[in-house]
Amino acid sequence: MNNLLDIYQRLTNHYGTRNWWPAETPFEVIVGAILTQNTNWKNVETAIFNLRQKNALTTDAILQLDLETLEQLIRPSGFFRQKAQRLQLFCLYLQDHYAGSLDALFAQKLDLVRDELLRLKGIGPETADAILLYAGRLPSFVVDAYTNRLFGRLGILSGDEKYADVRDLFMSQLPKDIQLYSEYHALIINHCKQFCRKKPLCPGCPCADICLEKQPN
Ligand code: SF4
Repeated sequence: MNNLLDIYQRLTNHYGTRNWWPAETPFEVIVGAILTQNTNWKNVETAIFNLRQKNALTTDAILQLDLETLEQLIRPSGFFRQKAQRLQLFCLYLQDHYAGSLDALFAQKLDLVRDELLRLKGIGPETADAILLYAGRLPSFVVDAYTNRLFGRLGILSGDEKYADVRDLFMSQLPKDIQLYSEYHALIINHCKQFCRKKPLCPGCPCADICLEKQPN
């Protein structure tokens, strides 16, 4: 078993299946992926709750809202002016190019959809990969700050890698399996919140015996 699969197995054995992403529809995943930039998930949940209360979790509904109303609904997620624009830009793009159909967008080859998403204002690699994986069910591994922290401490990353290098490493060493990618990203987040925090809590960590930075605590 390679290192990445071994670590995946350790995390799965410890935490069980995470069943990510927390959303009811693919469109809601996309809204969450845009709103979660630079904020925590609790704030995103409040913003999504507000949108749901207004029946505004569809492309049409987001486009029908005037910008100021949309800003107020998503205000809890922070950077709300920027994010309101980004949401409307995404919806406009989907409507103009795919008649509002996410199925049509995601029916293309992974690299093509990814390039399209990355050309949209405010969608960077992490957001694009989260959208591809959790909304599009396409095998694109999501890298985030937690990934860099954990795999740096485990000696698999040096800390000098760019986003694309880390994604390539995972995608070249793991089978192209949507479920595995979905779970792995969720497990990394879970592990970095419970054990591998900025100041880690190492006793009981399922990766302690292979870690280069284990702390005695
Ligand atoms: S042993 Fe500590 S530093 Fe290493 S992976 Fe576990 S929690 Fe993180």
